[in-house]
Amino acid sequence: MKKPRILSGMRPTGPLHLGNYMGALENWVGLQDRYECFFPVVDWHSLTTDYANPGDVRLNVIEVATDWLAAGLDPERSTIFVQSLVPQHAELHLLLSMITPVPWLERVPTYKEQQQNIEGKDLSTYGFLGYPVLQTADIIIYKADAVPVGEDQAPHIELAREIVRRFNGLYGEVFPEPQTLLTEAKRIPGTDGRKMSKSYGNAIYLKDDPETVRQKLRPMVTDPARKRRTDPGDPEICPVFDLHKAFSPQSTREWAAHGCRTAGIGCLDCKAKLAEHMLEKLARIQERRPALAARPDTVWDVLLAGSKRAREVAEATMQEVRSAMKISYEKP
Ligand code: SF4
Repeated sequence: MKKPRILSGMRPTGPLHLGNYMGALENWVGLQDRYECFFPVVDWHSLTTDYANPGDVRLNVIEVATDWLAAGLDPERSTIFVQSLVPQHAELHLLLSMITPVPWLERVPTYKEQQQNIEGKDLSTYGFLGYPVLQTADIIIYKADAVPVGEDQAPHIELAREIVRRFNGLYGEVFPEPQTLLTEAKRIPGTDGRKMSKSYGNAIYLKDDPETVRQKLRPMVTDPARKRRTDPGDPEICPVFDLHKAFSPQSTREWAAHGCRTAGIGCLDCKAKLAEHMLEKLARIQERRPALAARPDTVWDVLLAGSKRAREVAEATMQEVRSAMKISYEKP
């Protein structure tokens, strides 16, 4: 039986951290059993916010793809590719932009939010406003049945459905409406207690070796009430405990919560235990990654082969689109 198709992508931000892994990548690895998966590194999307300073995009693409493969994305089962190597995405984006009303884009919650919150970047651009249209093109060009996303991205999928309905209403049924496959949100704080992010300098990376992971955890912020070893604390307000919730089994979580409340354990004991469980989880990735990092050409080969396959699927859809919109000039 044909598996349903899904698509999800990541921007090429360089090496991935635990927030990227627990928030998306770990889930993707499991989805490969049940779905036909398309996973693009969406390099054009990074230009919607970082057009002035794109950085070393090629290197960042390779870093992301290396982490993907180390984590268990399997090019035999999934199409792993680079968005800009499939120019059909840009063509569909252009055509969809003809039918998408501007107010639909202005009311996407992340549009205003990011304009207000991202400092030092001029986001009053056409590309930034239209990025959900590009995202829609990314999804529907493969006729994806569903998109695995966190709750914050759900309005984008709703918008994609609206655009699909408008397209199909105008030109005939070409696209299925993509469904949202909600990914459970886990809070993954960085070492300073804020959301883990490369730009905050608080991230633990998949490529960090065990000693680096331990070193980063040791000074991590905790419940400020625990100034001395004898002071009891509250695990529910401690970011280290949030990480226990994501990485440690129930028995360790109970040990940490009880030891914290009764001052039976010190924060360094608590962090050492967390490091053990975190490293257990990362062991397979850390085992596989060095060999992949030593052969960037092999990782490129995977991306090039995936992009070729993606182009074939995307071009087949575009032929239907051009014909539906009466802009097909192929010989009859
Ligand atoms: S014992 Fe653990 S949970 Fe409690 S404050 Fe220290 S690090 Fe946080």
